[in-house]
Amino acid sequence: MIHEILPVGILQCNCSVFGDEATREALVVDPGDDIARVLEVVDRHGLNVKAIVITHAHIDHIGGAQKLKQATGAPVYMNLNDIELQKMLDVQAAWLGMRPPAAVEIDQPAKDGDLLALGSTAFHVLHTPGHTPGSISLWIPTERKLVAGDTLFRDSIGRTDLPGGDGRQILRSIHDKLLPLPDETVVIPGHGESTTIGREKQFNYFLQDM
Ligand SMILES: [Zn+2]
Repeated sequence: MIHEILPVGILQCNCSVFGDEATREALVVDPGDDIARVLEVVDRHGLNVKAIVITHAHIDHIGGAQKLKQATGAPVYMNLNDIELQKMLDVQAAWLGMRPPAAVEIDQPAKDGDLLALGSTAFHVLHTPGHTPGSISLWIPTERKLVAGDTLFRDSIGRTDLPGGDGRQILRSIHDKLLPLPDETVVIPGHGESTTIGREKQFNYFLQDM
């Protein structure tokens, strides 16, 4: 499996490009911005984007989705509990002093338990609300990877003080959905360095009472 992580935009959101070597299909997670760079990675590997997955509807994760959709024709997957936030992209842009990005239509709802296939690799959708009501994580068991959006970070967890955030819910999501994954699972957070489930169980201050 091809996998490149590109920090994009002013908030350096980790955008992931996954590519299947056999089918040359790609799945792009969180194309927040810098779509020219995302497409450069896609082209360099000779891939066709088959799906665009949004972990949650914050502007730094979804801001470039419409541009990427226009360039590739790929459908956009997102959990519909984030529709309210997605409708507020202009408000979110104002918080950051940015111009609002083009609005994107969601083509497929991403629900807990869904499986997205990329070649022979299955991406499991885990609904992990708390940072936002529709936050999802993608677990790829055969790659031993978890794309965690802004739910779990190296040494931290997602903020819950923005509209729709819930501090108890994010801890429940992490406890119920993420910590049961194998310790060696590599966690790719929405921002910053990768980590593992085992490392966060051991060292993450926010998870010590679990
Ligand atoms: Zn966020």
